[in-house]
Amino acid sequence: MAQVDPSSFSLPDNCPGLTGCPATLSLSERIAALEKRVVTDALTGLWNRMHFDSSLDPEIRRSLRHKQPLSLILFDVDHFKDVNDGFGHQVGDQVLCELARIASLTVRTSDRLFRWGGEEFAVLATASGHRGAARVAENLREAVAAHGFPGVGRLTVSIGVAEHLASESADEWFHRADVMLYAAKCGGRNAVRVDARGNSDLWAAAHGTSALHLVWQEAYECGNAVIDREHRELFDLANELIDGFLTHGSSQTLVTPIYDRLLRHVATHFADEESELEARGYVRLEAHRRIHATLLERAHELRAALDSGDANLGGVVEFLASEVVSRHLLRADRDFFPLFATAPTAPV
Ligand code: GH3
Ligand code: MG
Ligand code: MG
Repeated sequence: MAQVDPSSFSLPDNCPGLTGCPATLSLSERIAALEKRVVTDALTGLWNRMHFDSSLDPEIRRSLRHKQPLSLILFDVDHFKDVNDGFGHQVGDQVLCELARIASLTVRTSDRLFRWGGEEFAVLATASGHRGAARVAENLREAVAAHGFPGVGRLTVSIGVAEHLASESADEWFHRADVMLYAAKCGGRNAVRVDARGNSDLWAAAHGTSALHLVWQEAYECGNAVIDREHRELFDLANELIDGFLTHGSSQTLVTPIYDRLLRHVATHFADEESELEARGYVRLEAHRRIHATLLERAHELRAALDSGDANLGGVVEFLASEVVSRHLLRADRDFFPLFATAPTAPV
């Protein structure tokens, strides 16, 4: 079946989604229109279930080939039967169209939105690990909960998220997202539940710190805005330090100012991270504080050793860029990631 370019697709102005094929169209235009109809949901104008089913395997193959994470978001209207029972089937249909419109405005342009079944929808989030997909899902939940549906009022959705993991089949992957959706329903609805596993983490672990430059990956994001922003800045500064060292070699006067700047940023970041973790009631905070203190102490010792000529610049750069920034973030910090990845959302 021909694949339709999602970027050329938009929801129809009026619902239901499709009209007939005017006879004035040329043959090729009519074939294109028919091809589009085959993959389109007639009510909402979104991609349909058949297109969803045929998209999964190619997307999985692409994800594995390019090592780009891929996530699935499933959402289902809460108590939709009450809408039909209370307002009639036609109003129910309008609600589904309105929901499709809100969802298509909320998900990112790279995400592909499908009507999977009656009042169930799916989003294929390309180049997204489970953390990024969880944020998309949370935005979606909030957008729906904040919307007034004409004639009906407030409605909510429950959402399940799973990132593709290892070489699991499309069915296995879908099942994990569905289990999360079910958990969101059981937990009181109007909630997002995330299976916090996925290839982004496997690939990040395999990548480790082997490269000369530190390459930021989505899997390094924990979901807390302050911590994520500072971690990115740490990566940028560490790369500046590595560049400085590679360019200026052992010229201490040119490299140590960059080292000092990074060191100051590390100290600020450690303090900020500790307050964020304290606010979240992180149980291993004291141990994490001690790791931070030890790393900072060692970084200051090495800096002093540089001044007294007792340390070699390469070793000092290596310590700060690799041990403090990269290794600490990839290993020790991972322990607190679930705190932010599985933030509970308000039940109805
Ligand atoms: P839950 O919170 O557990 O998801 O409850 P629910 O009422 O949303 O779920 P349930 O599966 O009991 O009911 C779904 C309803 O959606 C029943 C079905 O008639 C209705 N439905 C399915 N497709 C359509 C449709 O195209 N239009 C309309 N108006 N209703 C539909
Ligand atoms: Mg349902
Ligand atoms: Mg439902």
